[in-house]
Amino acid sequence: MREHIERVIFSAEEIQRRVQELARQIVRDYQNGGKRDPYGRPLLVVGLLKGAMPFMADLVRALDIPLEYDFMAVSSYRNGTSPGEVRILKDLDRAIGRRDLLIVEDIVDTGHTLRHILRSLQAREPASLRVCALLDKPHRREVEVPVDYVGFVLPENVFVVGYGLDYGELYRNLPFIGVLKPEYLREGQG
Ligand code: 5GP
Repeated sequence: MREHIERVIFSAEEIQRRVQELARQIVRDYQNGGKRDPYGRPLLVVGLLKGAMPFMADLVRALDIPLEYDFMAVSSYRNGTSPGEVRILKDLDRAIGRRDLLIVEDIVDTGHTLRHILRSLQAREPASLRVCALLDKPHRREVEVPVDYVGFVLPENVFVVGYGLDYGELYRNLPFIGVLKPEYLREGQG
């Protein structure tokens, strides 16, 4: 796998350092401003499959506060027709009620996926709703979405793989984030 990578952008060590920093910030915020859930239930962390899985696994283990976690999966409009078309393939296991929710996403690009998820969760009237994305491509945004915690900002023109991010379902298991050699990028596979 590694021989398919042209250049590493964020090493495994850099990612781990950043995850720890994000976790410290999140813990601070939820210990102070959080706990808006009227019943004092723990934070519910919602990971978006499949890309957020490695990030989510590292993040929740760094969050030293009571929490529960669950997952949602959405269809990628990239394989479909139009950007507006985002479908929920797997929803949360249970109704959330008025709880504090933290969405964990791998990357925010145009913002369409996140907007769809936010609308769906907002409609369930949580006590609070925040977003943590490992990567952000703010220059590519087509719809405005709030991202409360960002691991790293990427330039517009880069397509990355690794640490959950795929190309044709491959490379998610790389422990770092990098760019593929051009010969491994095939038309219509992304
Ligand atoms: P958005 O709806 O914000 O345009 O796209 C979010 C989704 O696009 C991400 O969850 C991810 O699956 C995919 N995506 C966007 N940029 C990249 C990238 O650089 N690399 C990979 N592997 N996927 C990306």
